[in-house]
Amino acid sequence: MARSRYPRSERLFASSSRILAGGVNSPVRAFKSVGGTPLFIDRARGSRIEDADGHKYIDYVMSWGPLIHGHAPKGLLKALSRAAARGTSFGAPTELETRLAQRVAMLMPSMERVRFVSSGTEAAMSAVRVARAATKRDRIIKFEGCYHGHADSFLVQAGSGAMTLGVPTSPGVPKAAAADTLLARYNDLESVQQVFSRNPGTIAAIIVEPIAGNMGLVLPQEGFLDGLRTLCHHEGALLIFDEVISGFRASTGGAQKIMEIRPDLTILGKIIGGGLPVGAYGGRLEIMDLVAPAGPVYQAGTLSGNPLAMTAGLWSLENLSAKLYKHLAKLTGTLAAGLADAAREAEVPLQVNAHGSLLTPFFTDQPVRDFQSALSANTERYGAFHRAMLSRDIYLPPSQFEAWFLSGAHTPRDVETTLRAARQSFRELRDTAS
Ligand SMILES: *Cc1c(COP(=O)(O)O)cnc(C)c1O
Repeated sequence: MARSRYPRSERLFASSSRILAGGVNSPVRAFKSVGGTPLFIDRARGSRIEDADGHKYIDYVMSWGPLIHGHAPKGLLKALSRAAARGTSFGAPTELETRLAQRVAMLMPSMERVRFVSSGTEAAMSAVRVARAATKRDRIIKFEGCYHGHADSFLVQAGSGAMTLGVPTSPGVPKAAAADTLLARYNDLESVQQVFSRNPGTIAAIIVEPIAGNMGLVLPQEGFLDGLRTLCHHEGALLIFDEVISGFRASTGGAQKIMEIRPDLTILGKIIGGGLPVGAYGGRLEIMDLVAPAGPVYQAGTLSGNPLAMTAGLWSLENLSAKLYKHLAKLTGTLAAGLADAAREAEVPLQVNAHGSLLTPFFTDQPVRDFQSALSANTERYGAFHRAMLSRDIYLPPSQFEAWFLSGAHTPRDVETTLRAARQSFRELRDTAS
């Protein structure tokens, strides 16, 4: 038998599997949908990530989105070590929280009041709670394939890890919790209209990823988000944008800025934590004034507004620039076009969705615009492609239904190297296809 290329990762996974549930702390990390051993990571810098066996990869996971400036930027490390020296948590207000909130509100003017929490999941859960309190209604509309974290009411036809595990609706979610989550189809306003007409006067909010990143990257079609805004006005429901991925990635002001739509509430995470655990929700003053202690809607957190997390978030937002977004768009454009060309040459059906610094190559011949068309992708092929790329030192998301993330640390050389590996990998796929 050939010697494994990843002996240490294999040993580490064997021991983690004897103590951690499933050997990991988040399902997609286990590589179940692409096969092979999950790589254990030792360190990372810039666009590179290094596994426990000493292999270095160009990283397109980037911790699933937070690292828009790349791994371990020097300025961030310096700011963090200065902050840590003052103490790691106080459980009391700090000036840092106000400064980060001001920065968020400046970049995203719809966030008139902000509340920090420790994850995107918490932010989404809390935003829906306050939306329900504000409207005195219980039901929400969510879209098939959108992911808003793992709170009960969102685990209905959810994207991300829930999709590749084949359990789009998780056991353990009480029927009652799921019953108030009504589903509509992404990019299909009529499906939303239908849900409203069947449930008159009972829908608190629509929650949507304005750029969907958790069924693979799916872009909103012209008029879709505007339509949601209008419907919400008509129906007295709130519009909640989940910008955990698109916030500060689609533009400095997220998707809402480029699409010129003002949601009532916004959910943030990932980039605002700069690689530390953070989430935030916020929006219209009179809605956020319902949150305790200003109002009666309870929501709290031992580590909310943690000084290290606030420091990382501030550093990340302060270092956003027009130049960064230009760089990201150019690299992502080259990578997306290069992948499409390489697949065409190898006669492998591929649809590449791309926007800003995000892309997903779907192994299908039909355009991907919603959950159903995303599911037409050949996940076996993606798995084979993933393994082929990994053997060429390119680290891709271990699932067909996740976005690839670029960072300011990625270079044109990185993209060139990636495309060379992709050309070889697509050819390999064609030659081994039965
Ligand atoms: C990642 C993500 C979440 C959940 O954030 P966590 O920090 O993992 O809880 C919610 N919504 C979207 C759109 C996400 O991409």
